[in-house]
Amino acid sequence: MISEAQMQFVFALRSHGITDARVLAAMEKTPRDVFVEGLFKDRAFENTPLPIACGQTISQPSVVAQMTQALEVTPRCKVLEIGTGSGYQAAILSHLARRVYTVERHRPLARMASRVLRDLDLGNVTVIADDGSLGLPEQAPFDRILVTAAAEDPPSSLLAQLKVGGIMVLPVGQSDTIQNLIKIVKTKDGLEYSELNSVRFVPLLEGVAADIDA
Ligand code: SAH
Repeated sequence: MISEAQMQFVFALRSHGITDARVLAAMEKTPRDVFVEGLFKDRAFENTPLPIACGQTISQPSVVAQMTQALEVTPRCKVLEIGTGSGYQAAILSHLARRVYTVERHRPLARMASRVLRDLDLGNVTVIADDGSLGLPEQAPFDRILVTAAAEDPPSSLLAQLKVGGIMVLPVGQSDTIQNLIKIVKTKDGLEYSELNSVRFVPLLEGVAADIDA
């Protein structure tokens, strides 16, 4: 059953320029409240970022939708996401792709996201606790790569793990200033860049986080 809040949620996405029917359907199918804790569940269908564990955030739904739409995921795609966070973006990708690998540097977040994704029966997603700035060489190359934390420049190891014909979407810029969402298409002749819009993400940090309960 879809609640009124969920219906308004999809309506708000349309008003933010999301027109891809597959993206809208994937977002409609994905209950955002199961990816946040406690009191924040009441605000899960608002178009706002919300706090999650380890001092991180679940992104604003309209930004998740924009990034997903820009990624042009097809049912044959093998997708890599860097920055699992709550697992919400990975859940949406799992409805659109053949296979999703998602990497998170905070082990507690990776563990929680993995549990939520399993409870939702999303069997084509694998969560890996590691430093995603290095990509996931053992599963490369990927048709699509989505980075949900901001780097100063697109990491070269990620570009190397993108197939020719593949697409990568990521926020680029200093963490405390405005960042630009960038779309990169890898062609046989090189890389084609386009700028989408300004966003604000947490920084892409190196190494696995030293969480106390890890
Ligand atoms: N996609 C998430 C939100 C991302 S918040 C969601 O749907 O909820 C950005 C996440 O990137 C944070 O959880 C942060 O810990 C993670 N991150 C930052 N640097 C990273 C790195 N090098 N490797 C893996 N994850 C990283």
